[in-house]
Amino acid sequence: MSEPLRQTQKPLNLYIRTFGCQMNEYDSLRVRRLLAPLGYMPVSDMEEADVIFLNTCSVRDKAEQKVHSFIGSLRRLKAKKPSLKIVAGGCVAQQLGEKLLDRFDHLDLVLGTRAVGSIARLLEKINETGGRAACLPDTDTREPGEDDRGIFADGSLTAPVTVMQGCNNFCTYCIVPYVRGRERSRPYPDILREIRLLEAAGVREVLLLGQNVNSYGRGLDEKITFADLIRRIAEETGMLRIRFTTSHPKDLTEELMRCFAQVGKLCKHLHLPVQSGSDRVLARMGRGYTVAHYLEKVGRLREMCPEIALTSDVIVGFPGETEEDFRKTMDLLEQVRFDNLFSFRYSDRPHARAASFTDKVEPETGARRLVELQGFQAAVSMEKNLAEVGRVREVLVEGPSKTSEARMTGRTSHNRIVNFEASPGICGQIARVKITGAYSHSLKGLLLAGASEGGPQPGEN
Ligand code: SF4
Repeated sequence: MSEPLRQTQKPLNLYIRTFGCQMNEYDSLRVRRLLAPLGYMPVSDMEEADVIFLNTCSVRDKAEQKVHSFIGSLRRLKAKKPSLKIVAGGCVAQQLGEKLLDRFDHLDLVLGTRAVGSIARLLEKINETGGRAACLPDTDTREPGEDDRGIFADGSLTAPVTVMQGCNNFCTYCIVPYVRGRERSRPYPDILREIRLLEAAGVREVLLLGQNVNSYGRGLDEKITFADLIRRIAEETGMLRIRFTTSHPKDLTEELMRCFAQVGKLCKHLHLPVQSGSDRVLARMGRGYTVAHYLEKVGRLREMCPEIALTSDVIVGFPGETEEDFRKTMDLLEQVRFDNLFSFRYSDRPHARAASFTDKVEPETGARRLVELQGFQAAVSMEKNLAEVGRVREVLVEGPSKTSEARMTGRTSHNRIVNFEASPGICGQIARVKITGAYSHSLKGLLLAGASEGGPQPGEN
Protein backbone atom coordinates (compact mmCIF):
# COMPACT_ATOMS: atom_id res chain seq x y z
CA MET A 1 0.00 0.00 0.00
CA SER A 2 1.66 3.29 -1.12
CA GLU A 3 2.43 6.06 1.41
CA PRO A 4 -0.45 8.56 1.81
CA LEU A 5 0.14 11.72 -0.24
CA ARG A 6 1.19 14.74 1.75
CA GLN A 7 -0.74 18.02 1.71
CA THR A 8 1.41 20.69 0.02
CA GLN A 9 3.38 22.96 2.39
CA LYS A 10 1.41 25.98 1.19
CA PRO A 11 -1.57 26.12 -1.22
CA LEU A 12 -0.24 25.81 -4.77
CA ASN A 13 -1.90 27.45 -7.77
CA LEU A 14 -2.97 25.02 -10.47
CA TYR A 15 -3.67 26.28 -13.99
CA ILE A 16 -5.35 23.81 -16.37
CA ARG A 17 -5.58 24.26 -20.15
CA THR A 18 -7.69 21.67 -21.94
CA PHE A 19 -7.50 21.11 -25.69
CA GLY A 20 -9.87 18.88 -27.69
CA CYS A 21 -12.77 16.64 -26.71
CA GLN A 22 -15.01 16.10 -23.70
CA MET A 23 -12.90 13.10 -22.76
CA ASN A 24 -10.08 15.57 -22.09
CA GLU A 25 -12.52 17.81 -20.21
CA TYR A 26 -13.32 14.87 -17.98
CA ASP A 27 -9.64 14.00 -17.39
CA SER A 28 -8.92 17.66 -16.54
CA LEU A 29 -11.75 17.53 -13.98
CA ARG A 30 -10.16 14.37 -12.56
CA VAL A 31 -6.81 16.19 -12.24
CA ARG A 32 -8.54 19.00 -10.33
CA ARG A 33 -10.30 16.48 -8.09
CA LEU A 34 -7.12 14.51 -7.46
CA LEU A 35 -5.00 17.56 -6.63
CA ALA A 36 -7.52 19.74 -4.73
CA PRO A 37 -7.40 17.69 -1.48
CA LEU A 38 -3.61 18.12 -1.54
CA GLY A 39 -3.84 21.89 -1.59
CA TYR A 40 -3.67 22.64 -5.32
CA MET A 41 -6.11 25.45 -5.94
CA PRO A 42 -7.37 26.11 -9.48
CA VAL A 43 -6.51 29.56 -10.89
CA SER A 44 -7.64 31.10 -14.16
CA ASP A 45 -4.53 33.23 -14.71
CA MET A 46 -1.53 31.29 -15.99
CA GLU A 47 0.85 33.96 -14.69
CA GLU A 48 -0.12 33.00 -11.10
CA ALA A 49 0.44 29.26 -11.62
CA ASP A 50 2.81 27.04 -9.62
CA VAL A 51 1.71 24.06 -11.72
CA ILE A 52 0.44 24.19 -15.32
CA PHE A 53 -1.41 21.11 -16.61
CA LEU A 54 -1.95 20.97 -20.38
CA ASN A 55 -4.42 18.37 -21.55
CA THR A 56 -3.50 17.91 -25.19
CA CYS A 57 -5.34 16.74 -28.33
CA SER A 58 -3.92 15.16 -31.49
CA VAL A 59 -7.12 14.22 -33.33
CA ARG A 60 -6.02 16.46 -36.26
CA ASP A 61 -2.69 17.89 -37.37
CA LYS A 62 -3.88 21.42 -36.64
CA ALA A 63 -4.77 20.46 -33.06
CA GLU A 64 -1.32 18.96 -32.53
CA GLN A 65 0.48 22.02 -33.97
CA LYS A 66 -1.55 24.23 -31.62
CA VAL A 67 -0.28 22.19 -28.65
CA HIS A 68 3.37 22.44 -29.77
CA SER A 69 3.21 26.20 -30.13
CA PHE A 70 1.42 26.56 -26.79
CA ILE A 71 4.06 24.50 -24.94
CA GLY A 72 6.75 26.58 -26.67
CA SER A 73 5.10 29.80 -25.45
CA LEU A 74 5.47 28.65 -21.81
CA ARG A 75 9.27 28.88 -21.90
CA ARG A 76 9.11 32.55 -20.81
CA LEU A 77 7.01 31.68 -17.73
CA LYS A 78 9.49 29.01 -16.70
CA ALA A 79 12.38 31.47 -17.16
CA LYS A 80 10.53 33.96 -14.95
CA LYS A 81 9.67 31.31 -12.30
CA PRO A 82 12.05 28.28 -12.30
CA SER A 83 9.98 26.53 -9.58
CA LEU A 84 7.00 26.40 -11.97
CA LYS A 85 6.08 22.81 -12.91
CA ILE A 86 4.72 22.21 -16.43
CA VAL A 87 2.85 18.94 -17.10
CA ALA A 88 1.64 17.76 -20.50
CA GLY A 89 -1.12 15.12 -20.53
CA GLY A 90 -3.61 13.82 -23.10
CA CYS A 91 -3.14 12.43 -26.60
CA VAL A 92 -0.04 14.34 -27.80
CA ALA A 93 1.70 13.31 -24.55
CA GLN A 94 0.69 9.68 -25.15
CA GLN A 95 1.69 9.87 -28.82
CA LEU A 96 5.16 11.42 -28.30
CA GLY A 97 6.10 10.47 -24.70
CA GLU A 98 9.84 11.06 -24.01
CA LYS A 99 10.21 12.84 -27.39
CA LEU A 100 8.11 15.69 -25.97
CA LEU A 101 10.53 16.01 -23.03
CA ASP A 102 13.46 16.04 -25.50
CA ARG A 103 11.79 18.70 -27.61
CA PHE A 104 10.83 21.02 -24.73
CA ASP A 105 13.42 21.19 -21.93
CA HIS A 106 11.08 23.44 -19.87
CA LEU A 107 8.54 20.58 -19.63
CA ASP A 108 8.72 18.66 -16.32
CA LEU A 109 6.27 15.80 -16.70
CA VAL A 110 4.66 13.95 -19.63
CA LEU A 111 1.55 12.06 -18.56
CA GLY A 112 0.05 9.41 -20.85
CA THR A 113 -3.75 9.13 -21.28
CA ARG A 114 -3.87 6.24 -18.78
CA ALA A 115 -1.66 7.89 -16.17
CA VAL A 116 -4.08 10.62 -14.97
CA GLY A 117 -4.66 8.74 -11.71
CA SER A 118 -0.94 9.00 -10.86
CA ILE A 119 -0.54 12.76 -11.27
CA ALA A 120 -0.40 13.58 -7.55
CA ARG A 121 2.27 10.97 -6.84
CA LEU A 122 4.37 11.96 -9.87
CA LEU A 123 4.15 15.69 -9.06
CA GLU A 124 5.22 14.99 -5.49
CA LYS A 125 8.21 13.03 -6.82
CA ILE A 126 9.44 15.68 -9.27
CA ASN A 127 8.94 18.36 -6.60
CA GLU A 128 11.19 16.32 -4.28
CA THR A 129 13.83 15.29 -6.83
CA GLY A 130 13.72 18.31 -9.14
CA GLY A 131 13.80 15.71 -11.94
CA ARG A 132 11.72 15.32 -15.13
CA ALA A 133 9.68 12.27 -16.10
CA ALA A 134 7.42 10.66 -18.68
CA CYS A 135 4.80 8.16 -17.46
CA LEU A 136 2.91 6.14 -20.11
CA PRO A 137 1.41 3.05 -18.44
CA ASP A 138 -0.47 0.41 -20.46
CA THR A 139 -3.26 0.21 -17.94
CA ASP A 140 -5.47 2.89 -16.40
CA THR A 141 -4.24 4.21 -13.09
CA ARG A 142 -6.78 5.31 -10.49
CA GLU A 143 -5.49 6.77 -7.25
CA PRO A 144 -6.41 4.40 -4.36
CA GLY A 145 -9.78 5.55 -3.01
CA GLU A 146 -10.17 7.97 -5.91
CA ASP A 147 -13.72 6.75 -6.61
CA ASP A 148 -14.68 7.09 -2.95
CA ARG A 149 -13.29 10.55 -2.58
CA GLY A 150 -15.91 13.30 -2.64
CA ILE A 151 -16.42 15.19 -5.84
CA PHE A 152 -14.78 18.59 -6.02
CA ALA A 153 -17.99 20.66 -6.27
CA ASP A 154 -17.39 23.64 -8.51
CA GLY A 155 -21.02 24.70 -8.73
CA SER A 156 -21.53 23.17 -12.19
CA LEU A 157 -24.98 21.76 -12.80
CA THR A 158 -23.80 19.47 -15.55
CA ALA A 159 -20.85 17.10 -15.49
CA PRO A 160 -19.23 14.51 -17.76
CA VAL A 161 -18.75 10.94 -16.54
CA THR A 162 -16.53 8.56 -18.51
CA VAL A 163 -18.20 5.15 -18.89
CA MET A 164 -15.65 3.61 -21.23
CA GLN A 165 -12.35 4.47 -22.82
CA GLY A 166 -10.48 3.49 -25.94
CA CYS A 167 -11.70 2.16 -29.27
CA ASN A 168 -11.41 -1.07 -31.27
CA ASN A 169 -12.61 0.32 -34.60
CA PHE A 170 -9.33 1.60 -36.09
CA CYS A 171 -10.95 3.88 -38.65
CA THR A 172 -8.14 4.51 -41.13
CA TYR A 173 -7.97 8.28 -40.47
CA CYS A 174 -8.05 8.10 -36.67
CA ILE A 175 -5.30 8.23 -34.06
CA VAL A 176 -7.58 7.55 -31.06
CA PRO A 177 -7.06 3.75 -30.77
CA TYR A 178 -3.27 4.38 -30.74
CA VAL A 179 -3.38 7.02 -27.99
CA ARG A 180 -6.38 5.87 -25.94
CA GLY A 181 -5.92 2.11 -26.34
CA ARG A 182 -8.46 -0.67 -26.74
CA GLU A 183 -12.04 -0.41 -25.45
CA ARG A 184 -12.52 -0.94 -21.74
CA SER A 185 -15.78 -0.27 -19.91
CA ARG A 186 -15.97 0.96 -16.32
CA PRO A 187 -17.88 -1.34 -13.96
CA TYR A 188 -21.42 -0.06 -13.35
CA PRO A 189 -20.99 0.29 -9.54
CA ASP A 190 -18.08 2.76 -10.09
CA ILE A 191 -20.16 4.83 -12.52
CA LEU A 192 -23.17 4.79 -10.18
CA ARG A 193 -21.03 5.86 -7.19
CA GLU A 194 -19.54 8.76 -9.17
CA ILE A 195 -22.97 9.92 -10.39
CA ARG A 196 -24.37 9.82 -6.87
CA LEU A 197 -21.42 11.90 -5.63
CA LEU A 198 -22.07 14.38 -8.44
CA GLU A 199 -25.75 14.51 -7.50
CA ALA A 200 -24.78 15.23 -3.88
CA ALA A 201 -22.52 18.00 -5.17
CA GLY A 202 -25.51 19.63 -6.93
CA VAL A 203 -25.08 18.31 -10.47
CA ARG A 204 -28.42 17.85 -12.28
CA GLU A 205 -27.32 16.49 -15.69
CA VAL A 206 -24.68 13.93 -16.61
CA LEU A 207 -22.99 13.45 -19.97
CA LEU A 208 -21.95 9.80 -20.36
CA LEU A 209 -18.66 9.75 -22.25
CA GLY A 210 -16.77 7.28 -24.38
CA GLN A 211 -15.17 7.08 -27.80
CA ASN A 212 -17.80 4.50 -28.71
CA VAL A 213 -20.34 4.36 -25.87
CA ASN A 214 -22.58 1.98 -27.83
CA SER A 215 -20.14 -0.84 -27.14
CA TYR A 216 -20.29 -0.23 -23.39
CA GLY A 217 -20.36 -3.42 -21.36
CA ARG A 218 -18.15 -5.57 -23.59
CA GLY A 219 -15.52 -7.26 -21.47
CA LEU A 220 -17.27 -6.62 -18.15
CA ASP A 221 -18.08 -9.56 -15.86
CA GLU A 222 -21.59 -8.21 -15.38
CA LYS A 223 -23.82 -8.59 -18.46
CA ILE A 224 -24.91 -5.00 -19.18
CA THR A 225 -25.48 -3.05 -22.39
CA PHE A 226 -25.35 0.70 -22.92
CA ALA A 227 -29.16 0.83 -23.08
CA ASP A 228 -29.27 -0.99 -19.72
CA LEU A 229 -26.78 1.51 -18.30
CA ILE A 230 -28.98 4.46 -19.31
CA ARG A 231 -32.14 2.89 -17.87
CA ARG A 232 -30.41 2.02 -14.57
CA ILE A 233 -28.92 5.50 -14.15
CA ALA A 234 -32.38 6.99 -14.85
CA GLU A 235 -33.99 4.69 -12.25
CA GLU A 236 -31.27 4.55 -9.60
CA THR A 237 -30.20 8.22 -9.42
CA GLY A 238 -31.93 11.55 -8.97
CA MET A 239 -30.30 13.09 -12.04
CA LEU A 240 -32.80 15.21 -13.97
CA ARG A 241 -31.17 14.62 -17.34
CA ILE A 242 -28.87 12.16 -19.11
CA ARG A 243 -26.90 12.81 -22.30
CA PHE A 244 -24.19 10.75 -24.00
CA THR A 245 -21.49 10.94 -26.69
CA THR A 246 -20.04 9.45 -28.94
CA SER A 247 -21.91 6.71 -30.84
CA HIS A 248 -20.72 4.59 -33.74
CA PRO A 249 -23.54 4.05 -36.27
CA LYS A 250 -22.76 0.35 -36.74
CA ASP A 251 -23.32 -0.27 -33.01
CA LEU A 252 -26.55 1.76 -32.70
CA THR A 253 -29.10 -0.87 -31.60
CA GLU A 254 -32.94 -0.87 -31.61
CA GLU A 255 -32.67 -1.32 -27.83
CA LEU A 256 -30.78 1.98 -27.55
CA MET A 257 -33.12 3.75 -29.97
CA ARG A 258 -36.08 2.68 -27.78
CA CYS A 259 -34.48 4.48 -24.82
CA PHE A 260 -35.08 7.80 -26.61
CA ALA A 261 -38.81 7.04 -26.74
CA GLN A 262 -39.16 5.50 -23.29
CA VAL A 263 -36.63 7.06 -20.88
CA GLY A 264 -37.94 10.53 -19.95
CA LYS A 265 -34.61 11.65 -18.48
CA LEU A 266 -32.68 10.79 -21.65
CA CYS A 267 -32.27 13.98 -23.68
CA LYS A 268 -33.67 13.82 -27.19
CA HIS A 269 -30.40 14.43 -28.97
CA LEU A 270 -28.04 11.95 -30.60
CA HIS A 271 -24.58 12.65 -32.02
CA LEU A 272 -24.06 10.05 -34.77
CA PRO A 273 -20.88 10.70 -36.83
CA VAL A 274 -21.36 9.69 -40.48
CA GLN A 275 -18.05 11.10 -41.84
CA SER A 276 -18.93 10.72 -45.57
CA GLY A 277 -21.89 10.21 -47.92
CA SER A 278 -19.92 7.99 -50.31
CA ASP A 279 -19.82 4.21 -49.78
CA ARG A 280 -16.46 4.08 -51.53
CA VAL A 281 -14.97 6.59 -49.08
CA LEU A 282 -16.69 4.97 -46.07
CA ALA A 283 -15.10 1.65 -47.07
CA ARG A 284 -11.65 3.25 -47.33
CA MET A 285 -12.21 4.87 -43.94
CA GLY A 286 -13.01 1.43 -42.50
CA ARG A 287 -16.28 2.72 -40.99
CA GLY A 288 -18.12 -0.59 -41.28
CA TYR A 289 -21.42 0.71 -42.64
CA THR A 290 -22.89 1.99 -45.91
CA VAL A 291 -24.94 5.13 -46.57
CA ALA A 292 -28.07 2.99 -46.94
CA HIS A 293 -27.36 1.32 -43.58
CA TYR A 294 -26.87 4.74 -41.93
CA LEU A 295 -30.07 6.16 -43.46
CA GLU A 296 -32.04 3.10 -42.40
CA LYS A 297 -30.94 3.66 -38.77
CA VAL A 298 -31.78 7.38 -38.95
CA GLY A 299 -35.21 6.51 -40.36
CA ARG A 300 -35.88 3.97 -37.59
CA LEU A 301 -34.71 6.40 -34.92
CA ARG A 302 -37.00 9.16 -36.24
CA GLU A 303 -39.89 6.68 -36.31
CA MET A 304 -39.33 5.90 -32.64
CA CYS A 305 -38.57 9.47 -31.58
CA PRO A 306 -39.82 11.93 -34.24
CA GLU A 307 -38.54 14.98 -32.41
CA ILE A 308 -35.01 13.75 -31.91
CA ALA A 309 -32.23 16.22 -32.73
CA LEU A 310 -29.46 14.64 -34.79
CA THR A 311 -25.92 15.95 -35.11
CA SER A 312 -22.94 14.42 -36.85
CA ASP A 313 -19.27 14.67 -37.93
CA VAL A 314 -18.09 14.84 -41.55
CA ILE A 315 -14.57 14.72 -42.99
CA VAL A 316 -13.95 16.25 -46.43
CA GLY A 317 -10.85 15.74 -48.55
CA PHE A 318 -10.23 12.15 -47.41
CA PRO A 319 -7.56 10.56 -49.68
CA GLY A 320 -9.10 9.62 -53.01
CA GLU A 321 -12.32 11.60 -52.42
CA THR A 322 -13.56 12.63 -55.90
CA GLU A 323 -15.94 15.47 -56.74
CA GLU A 324 -18.59 12.78 -57.23
CA ASP A 325 -17.94 11.40 -53.71
CA PHE A 326 -18.26 14.89 -52.30
CA ARG A 327 -21.57 15.44 -54.09
CA LYS A 328 -22.80 12.27 -52.45
CA THR A 329 -21.89 13.71 -49.06
CA MET A 330 -23.82 16.87 -49.91
CA ASP A 331 -26.80 14.71 -51.01
CA LEU A 332 -26.70 12.88 -47.69
CA LEU A 333 -26.76 16.17 -45.77
CA GLU A 334 -29.73 17.24 -47.90
CA GLN A 335 -31.52 13.96 -47.13
CA VAL A 336 -30.88 13.82 -43.37
CA ARG A 337 -30.88 17.58 -42.64
CA PHE A 338 -28.85 17.37 -39.42
CA ASP A 339 -29.57 19.85 -36.64
CA ASN A 340 -25.87 20.61 -36.49
CA LEU A 341 -22.63 19.30 -37.89
CA PHE A 342 -18.93 19.25 -36.96
CA SER A 343 -16.96 19.21 -40.19
CA PHE A 344 -13.23 19.04 -40.84
CA ARG A 345 -10.68 18.77 -43.60
CA TYR A 346 -8.80 15.47 -43.55
CA SER A 347 -5.23 15.53 -42.18
CA ASP A 348 -2.69 12.70 -41.86
CA ARG A 349 -2.32 11.26 -38.35
CA PRO A 350 0.66 9.25 -37.09
CA HIS A 351 -0.01 5.45 -36.98
CA ALA A 352 -3.36 5.86 -38.83
CA ARG A 353 -3.42 3.77 -42.07
CA ALA A 354 -4.76 6.54 -44.32
CA ALA A 355 -1.55 8.51 -43.76
CA SER A 356 0.12 6.07 -46.16
CA PHE A 357 -2.58 6.42 -48.85
CA THR A 358 -0.95 8.12 -51.85
CA ASP A 359 -4.00 9.67 -53.54
CA LYS A 360 -4.20 12.74 -51.28
CA VAL A 361 -6.68 15.51 -52.11
CA GLU A 362 -5.21 18.96 -52.87
CA PRO A 363 -5.54 21.24 -49.77
CA GLU A 364 -7.32 23.93 -51.85
CA THR A 365 -9.88 21.35 -53.05
CA GLY A 366 -10.46 20.17 -49.48
CA ALA A 367 -10.81 23.76 -48.28
CA ARG A 368 -13.29 24.62 -51.04
CA ARG A 369 -15.41 21.56 -50.23
CA LEU A 370 -15.39 22.44 -46.51
CA VAL A 371 -16.60 25.99 -47.18
CA GLU A 372 -19.43 24.73 -49.39
CA LEU A 373 -20.48 22.08 -46.88
CA GLN A 374 -20.38 24.46 -43.89
CA GLY A 375 -22.37 27.06 -45.84
CA PHE A 376 -25.07 24.52 -46.60
CA GLN A 377 -25.22 23.27 -43.00
CA ALA A 378 -25.36 26.78 -41.52
CA ALA A 379 -28.55 27.41 -43.51
CA VAL A 380 -30.10 24.10 -42.38
CA SER A 381 -29.21 24.71 -38.71
CA MET A 382 -30.72 28.21 -38.89
CA GLU A 383 -33.88 26.83 -40.48
CA LYS A 384 -34.16 24.26 -37.65
CA ASN A 385 -33.64 26.97 -35.02
CA LEU A 386 -36.30 29.17 -36.65
CA ALA A 387 -38.73 26.24 -36.55
CA GLU A 388 -38.42 26.33 -32.73
CA VAL A 389 -40.04 29.79 -32.51
CA GLY A 390 -43.47 29.51 -30.89
CA ARG A 391 -42.73 26.12 -29.32
CA VAL A 392 -42.60 25.55 -25.55
CA ARG A 393 -39.43 23.75 -24.42
CA GLU A 394 -38.14 22.39 -21.12
CA VAL A 395 -34.79 24.02 -20.31
CA LEU A 396 -32.38 22.96 -17.56
CA VAL A 397 -31.33 26.33 -16.19
CA GLU A 398 -27.53 26.28 -15.97
CA GLY A 399 -26.76 29.86 -14.88
CA PRO A 400 -26.55 33.51 -15.98
CA SER A 401 -26.20 34.03 -19.72
CA LYS A 402 -22.89 35.30 -21.05
CA THR A 403 -24.59 38.34 -22.59
CA SER A 404 -26.61 39.77 -19.68
CA GLU A 405 -26.91 39.29 -15.91
CA ALA A 406 -30.71 39.71 -16.22
CA ARG A 407 -30.86 36.63 -18.41
CA MET A 408 -30.44 33.00 -17.52
CA THR A 409 -29.23 30.34 -19.92
CA GLY A 410 -29.71 26.64 -20.34
CA ARG A 411 -30.25 23.95 -22.94
CA THR A 412 -33.30 22.19 -24.26
CA SER A 413 -33.44 18.41 -24.38
CA HIS A 414 -32.38 18.80 -28.07
CA ASN A 415 -29.15 20.50 -26.89
CA ARG A 416 -30.14 23.99 -28.09
CA ILE A 417 -28.99 26.91 -25.96
CA VAL A 418 -31.81 29.21 -24.79
CA ASN A 419 -31.40 32.62 -23.11
CA PHE A 420 -34.36 34.13 -21.27
CA GLU A 421 -35.10 36.67 -18.56
CA ALA A 422 -35.41 35.07 -15.13
CA SER A 423 -34.07 35.31 -11.62
CA PRO A 424 -30.96 33.33 -10.64
CA GLY A 425 -33.12 31.48 -8.09
CA ILE A 426 -34.30 29.00 -10.71
CA CYS A 427 -30.79 27.73 -11.44
CA GLY A 428 -30.74 23.93 -11.44
CA GLN A 429 -34.44 23.69 -12.19
CA ILE A 430 -36.22 22.59 -15.34
CA ALA A 431 -38.03 25.66 -16.67
CA ARG A 432 -40.77 25.77 -19.31
CA VAL A 433 -39.80 28.39 -21.85
CA LYS A 434 -41.67 29.66 -24.90
CA ILE A 435 -39.20 30.19 -27.76
CA THR A 436 -39.59 33.73 -29.09
CA GLY A 437 -36.51 34.18 -31.28
CA ALA A 438 -33.78 32.21 -33.09
CA TYR A 439 -30.14 32.92 -33.95
CA SER A 440 -27.53 30.75 -35.65
CA HIS A 441 -26.22 29.22 -32.40
CA SER A 442 -28.89 29.95 -29.80
CA LEU A 443 -32.55 30.73 -29.10
CA LYS A 444 -34.34 33.46 -27.16
CA GLY A 445 -37.24 32.63 -24.88
CA LEU A 446 -39.88 33.74 -22.43
CA LEU A 447 -40.12 32.00 -19.08
CA LEU A 448 -43.55 30.48 -18.49
CA ALA A 449 -44.81 30.08 -14.93
CA GLY A 450 -44.01 26.99 -12.89
CA ALA A 451 -40.37 25.98 -13.19
CA SER A 452 -40.10 22.51 -11.60
CA GLU A 453 -37.51 20.58 -9.57
CA GLY A 454 -38.72 17.33 -11.16
CA GLY A 455 -37.38 16.02 -14.52
CA PRO A 456 -39.39 15.92 -17.78
CA GLN A 457 -42.19 13.31 -18.07
CA PRO A 458 -42.14 10.81 -20.97
CA GLY A 459 -43.39 12.66 -24.13
CA GLU A 460 -42.77 16.17 -22.64
CA ASN A 461 -39.42 17.78 -23.71
S1 SF4 B 1 -14.80 4.98 -33.94
FE1 SF4 B 1 -13.23 5.43 -35.45
S2 SF4 B 1 -13.17 7.68 -35.44
FE2 SF4 B 1 -14.17 7.07 -33.56
S3 SF4 B 1 -12.57 6.96 -32.03
FE3 SF4 B 1 -12.82 4.92 -32.89
S4 SF4 B 1 -11.30 4.76 -34.51
FE4 SF4 B 1 -11.60 6.94 -34.04
